[in-house]
Amino acid sequence: ESILETIDRLCAVVPNYPTPGVTFRDLTPVFADGPALRGMVDALLADFEGTFDYVAGVEARGFLLAAAAAYASGHGVITVRKPGKLPRPTYNEAYSMEYGTNSLEVHIGDIPHGSRVLVLDDVLATGGTLGATARLIERAGSSVAGIGVVLELDGLGGRENLAGYKVRSLRTY
Ligand code: 5GP
Repeated sequence: ESILETIDRLCAVVPNYPTPGVTFRDLTPVFADGPALRGMVDALLADFEGTFDYVAGVEARGFLLAAAAAYASGHGVITVRKPGKLPRPTYNEAYSMEYGTNSLEVHIGDIPHGSRVLVLDDVLATGGTLGATARLIERAGSSVAGIGVVLELDGLGGRENLAGYKVRSLRTY
């Protein structure tokens, strides 16, 4: 079974969550499966081998992938967090969502200047989250080596919003 088939088999599809009309793809059963977790991380790393110095994870599900990928590749993790969670001075980048705006933060100084950072998250939808993450890394004086996600939801403009970056998804719906 390929990792793509494994994702299809284990990913739970939740209609009308978090709001009516939205179909939520729940990856928790994929994370809970040992071979599936390893397969996802290995597949995401395969495309970026030798091109990055750090792995950044986006709170919260991105942390799971980033920590595993960092461990497997021998690199460190950068935590990209929701506002107010990091105790020291941060860079902050806002992004718009369907209703209102949100933002993400990273500690000033956690990413050494000039680093190449691989960014991982579970799902790419509109690209707002990963776009803000990429801007954070660039404001810190580093570069985005690539962006890896398990699922890409087609037709929401995610790829377009991340034009110019190397984006790899394991499965597109
Ligand atoms: P975006 O900013 O690209 O519109 O949305 C991506 C973010 O929303 C990701 O951090 C992801 O965790 C979450 N997200 C959006 N839709 C889904 C979904 O169907 N399933 C899961 N697991 N997360 C989603």
